[in-house]
Amino acid sequence: MSCKVRFAPSPTGRMHIGNARVAIVNHLFARQQGGVFLLRIDDTDATRSKKEFEDLIMDDLRWLGIDYDETFRQTERIGRYEEVTNKLIANGVIYKCYESQEELEYKRRMAIARGKAPVYDRAALGLSDEQKRKLDDDGVPSYWRFKLPNKVITWKDLVSGEISYDLGNVSDPVVVKADGTYLYTFSSVIDDHDSEVTHVIRGQDHVTNTSVQIAILDEIANNSKLPQFAHLALLVNKDGSQFSKRLGSSSIQDIREQGIDPMAVSCTMATLGSSLDVVPFLRMPDLIAHFDISKFSANSPKFDIDDIIKLNGKILHMKPYEDVEQYGLSAEEFYAIRENITTYHDLQMWKEIFSPSFVSPHRPSSSDKELLKIATASLASIQDLTQDTCAEFLAYLSRTSGKAGKELYTPLRLSLTGMKHGPNITKLLALLGSATAAKRWSASCSEILDTFEDQCPVGSTEPE
Ligand code: GLU
Repeated sequence: MSCKVRFAPSPTGRMHIGNARVAIVNHLFARQQGGVFLLRIDDTDATRSKKEFEDLIMDDLRWLGIDYDETFRQTERIGRYEEVTNKLIANGVIYKCYESQEELEYKRRMAIARGKAPVYDRAALGLSDEQKRKLDDDGVPSYWRFKLPNKVITWKDLVSGEISYDLGNVSDPVVVKADGTYLYTFSSVIDDHDSEVTHVIRGQDHVTNTSVQIAILDEIANNSKLPQFAHLALLVNKDGSQFSKRLGSSSIQDIREQGIDPMAVSCTMATLGSSLDVVPFLRMPDLIAHFDISKFSANSPKFDIDDIIKLNGKILHMKPYEDVEQYGLSAEEFYAIRENITTYHDLQMWKEIFSPSFVSPHRPSSSDKELLKIATASLASIQDLTQDTCAEFLAYLSRTSGKAGKELYTPLRLSLTGMKHGPNITKLLALLGSATAAKRWSASCSEILDTFEDQCPVGSTEPE
């Protein structure tokens, strides 16, 4: 086995673009190396973890085309965490504490006021067995901390180069809470070790966790080979400000609902923050071949959802008809409008436009109405709408109306489709047929439509 990676979401909410990026990078890395992709559900937080979120995360992963080779939930491994905890308690590296949140907060503020780092003072280590028994008898809630060694942890990060972290600046992490549940920092090390994970790829926000976890791993399995770490630089907004999970359109659900192809997300996320070109691939194997973790940099990449939308347009422009057949357009219709779409919603919109019952919401000016009247009348005399007869028809229309170019085509097109852009007018007329075209032009001129629209003003149907 060349490598084993894991993606370890906490099922406490829907998948955000930042988590999806970590999942995508892990997945591409595993598939490129012919390795194993483990999906681990970090659900030890009993209050915040929900089965419903787990299902939604799985669904988002499936949508993204991320498949896994192995999976388990942390709650299935509580027995193993207990075993390790008991061993480390016996070794004196996990110790019992009794401070309440209020006491800890007070200590924290005092340390800051004295100009010291707000690191836990290990007061609980000074409690005698007698004192602890008394606290237990009095029903004071207790929890457990891991005693960090006083040293600097150093590792060679696959993305950020050499990282050194002084554990003297970190509080001993709580590993078991007062309610008996395990904290991810601890259970994750046991899992990564037992699952023989070779590469831990995650966001830079986990750098402190990594230094703590390396120290824990050292106690769990002395001399065990460390996995390789890769900490991806965190995304920032276009203006350089911190990327917020609360910003609109940043959950995978939001992105899906915008009519985006999953490959637009994967292709963007597989290259963002690296020196690789963003290439609009249609198929996963091409992206796997293009991906290269060594090209990632430690600088935070700027990200905007528009990056994905733009790439989505490029992907849709390359799509074969078989991929979009379910949207109900004919192959001719699809290939005629393929260049004019950005999202799958645009396909739905064009399907409505091509349907015989479509009524353009556009209201022509009186001079354009004249043009449409001439167009309707002259179209009626054309028996067979071919390239040649259509060219003749447009030339005639131009001569009679004195209009040419955009001035001629835009009113015709707006009345046929409600859109300023789209396939060229000859193609459009061939697709709609002369009867439908004439019907739409004459409807645009009719008083009935005017009256109707006066009552129900219709907004622009132009794509934004
Ligand atoms: N459950 C953790 C999280 O979602 C996992 C982090 C990790 O180790 O990859 O932040």
